[in-house]
Amino acid sequence: MYLGIDIGGTKLEAILIEKKTAGVNVLQKKRTATDRDQGYYRIIENLTHLIKDTCPNTKELIAIGIGLPGTVDPKTGMMIKGNTRALENMPLAEDLKKNLNFGAPVLIENDANCFALAEVYAGAGVNYEKDFGVPCEKQNAVGVILGTGVGGGVVINGKVVGGRRGAGGEIGHMTLHPNGRACYCDRKGCAEQYLSGPAIELEQFNETGKKLPAPDVFQASGNVLKNYQKNLAAFLGNIANVLDPDYFVLGGGVSLQKSIYENISEDLPTQLFVSKNPPPVYQHVVGDSAGSLGAAMVAWRNWSEPQ
Ligand SMILES: [Zn+2]
Repeated sequence: MYLGIDIGGTKLEAILIEKKTAGVNVLQKKRTATDRDQGYYRIIENLTHLIKDTCPNTKELIAIGIGLPGTVDPKTGMMIKGNTRALENMPLAEDLKKNLNFGAPVLIENDANCFALAEVYAGAGVNYEKDFGVPCEKQNAVGVILGTGVGGGVVINGKVVGGRRGAGGEIGHMTLHPNGRACYCDRKGCAEQYLSGPAIELEQFNETGKKLPAPDVFQASGNVLKNYQKNLAAFLGNIANVLDPDYFVLGGGVSLQKSIYENISEDLPTQLFVSKNPPPVYQHVVGDSAGSLGAAMVAWRNWSEPQ
């Protein structure tokens, strides 16, 4: 059995899986609060309780995988940078092993990479294998999170490409408009400033002077949606010109908007050097638990080794 944990800003989710000949079997799933404002040791305490609650006998676990919202140093397994500041440069894996008296590996991975893995092995990738005959283990795919921020996970030959420094797949900070909107990363025109939920709300506000939550914006204004579709096509086109993946799979709150997919099969080829048979763009299949399931898959496949 393997245990996967997703560390979110507000909640922690643990999932217990069993490896089967075909795919995985989910045995248990539990959630608790992160309490990140209470600091690092509170998070460790909450994680310890959650793990014991989900799997009372941790001796039965082959490994634990943990996904967190940040860049993970592939050498140390520590989070270098991320929005849950309490976790930065802390020995999370070591401290959990100590608390649980756990001898097997505890692997730490970026949460967007976990999302991409979950989709390749239990979601969009399973459908892709059925339709195109490419087994999940051989697939090249890019998982894109369109949520409060924009993140990504690149999977090549069924493995996450995290990069030498763990900074691979940070596609949200790809420059989409060189003199565009300021980004919190101190650069201009990052994709995140055009494709995230808050970006859509801002654009709607600038255009109409009305504040609307992201899900309602696309119904309200034709221009916001049109711009979004063009930006999304340019963004995915840039990635496809580098990687030519089998497919893209989109997650995060904005990915639930059906209208963003409407023109993608016409818009994407206009952005590609090789425009014939562009990579399909799928909506996520796994849903809410992709983060914890992907973390369990990191443990299962032992994929967080430096590449
Ligand atoms: Zn940026």
